Amino acid sequence: MGFSGGWAGAASPEMQANVLKHIFVRLRAWHDEHDQVADAALLENLGRLPWILAALLPLLVTGCYLSWGGQIIGAPSGMWLPRLIGWIDLFTLLGLLVLLMVIRWRRLNERITLLSRLLPGFLAALFVGFGLTLSTLSQWLLPSATMYVLCCVFAGTLLLIRPRVMALIYLTSFAIFYMLLGHTATSLGVLVILRFHGGLAAALGMCLSLVLWRRYALTELLSRQVHAQGRVLETQNAELERQKVVLERLSQHDPLTGLLNRRAFEVQADKVVSRSRREGTALAAIMLDLDHFKEVNDQHGHPAGDLVIKFMAHVIQTSVRETDLVARVGGEEFMLLLSATSALAAGGVAEKIRQRVAQAPIELGRDMVVQMTISAGVAAWEAGHTGEFEDLYATADGALYAAKRAGRNQVVFADETQKMHPMSSPCLV
Ligand code: GH3
Ligand code: MG
Ligand code: MG
Repeated sequence: MGFSGGWAGAASPEMQANVLKHIFVRLRAWHDEHDQVADAALLENLGRLPWILAALLPLLVTGCYLSWGGQIIGAPSGMWLPRLIGWIDLFTLLGLLVLLMVIRWRRLNERITLLSRLLPGFLAALFVGFGLTLSTLSQWLLPSATMYVLCCVFAGTLLLIRPRVMALIYLTSFAIFYMLLGHTATSLGVLVILRFHGGLAAALGMCLSLVLWRRYALTELLSRQVHAQGRVLETQNAELERQKVVLERLSQHDPLTGLLNRRAFEVQADKVVSRSRREGTALAAIMLDLDHFKEVNDQHGHPAGDLVIKFMAHVIQTSVRETDLVARVGGEEFMLLLSATSALAAGGVAEKIRQRVAQAPIELGRDMVVQMTISAGVAAWEAGHTGEFEDLYATADGALYAAKRAGRNQVVFADETQKMHPMSSPCLV
């Protein structure tokens, strides 16, 4: 395949179709991206409005001055073009002043309206329009396209506008520049060169505008992605925190009753004991155990036994203060640690629980009712004690077994001399 055939000659029709398809897909993707950022870009443009208008106004005033004073620019007398451009500049200037007032009064740059949608394109057209008129008018003074070049660059850098709109503006402006130059250019050579420069200016403005627009669109989309991912992370973090709380609760509480488990109870009990030592307050412990609980399991099954344990937990929790520690320390064994409580008061609490259990038949289902009793051991230290939790626990446990040995369904005290004595006489069911 010869070189003279060019790219189209060298590439197979299949390759050409692939390249075209690739370009089409890419343009389609750009189009979708641009749709997504169009409103954000508009708000960005509106935020820049004061600066854009501040740049435009002096340019237009200069344009008016030059075109009305035809002799300043050396135009042939009676020529219509400077006058026409002067009128256009004057009306544009007045229009811009009105626009400034509208923006000030209606806070245009805070919400998107039809007017605000049209505004950036209109301003870009003004920039290039002003540039081309000044360049056209200045031909008699100094043949140059500088103002047109500068204004193309201004429009491309100051405003964020979709490439297709900008392409339209630059092409139209170049077409007008091309035609008007025909009326004012001083020689054919100048005309050709300036038309060439004008074409370059429009192309340069277009490239600048495209690069800045693409960079804006990509940055905006990326920052949205980062924000969205940040929100996902926040949600996941909150969920993790929630699960952590649930896990912590599970690790510290007995799943059947919701009471503290033995491990968590011991940790907290150590703290309660040292605080009681530090503050010099009394402290009491109660060990409770259901009597003949195994028979419930054997006769009615383990689910029924579970119901009894739950009932027991409920009775205990509703018999103590919120600040007291309550734990399920074994299958049907419970321990209570009562801060600032004397032996007598603790005995009262244990007796209250014993009576509530002994007087309440527990319903385990249809026609299935059991009557339970409990045994309790109470151990207490008076204010100013120096003991450790393990001692109190062992003493209360000893009292509980004394209650069992003494016939169950009773509360037994362990006094300081570790001598056990029953608080109430057993009432067997
Ligand atoms: P005592 O009056 O001497 O305390 O006799 P008891 O039958 O209450 O005591 P024992 O230690 O002989 O039996 C306790 C039973 O508690 C044995 C065990 O299977 C049962 N158990 C332990 N944990 C659970 C539980 O979570 N649910 C049920 N349903 N039963 C349990
Ligand atoms: Mg028991
Ligand atoms: Mg037991």
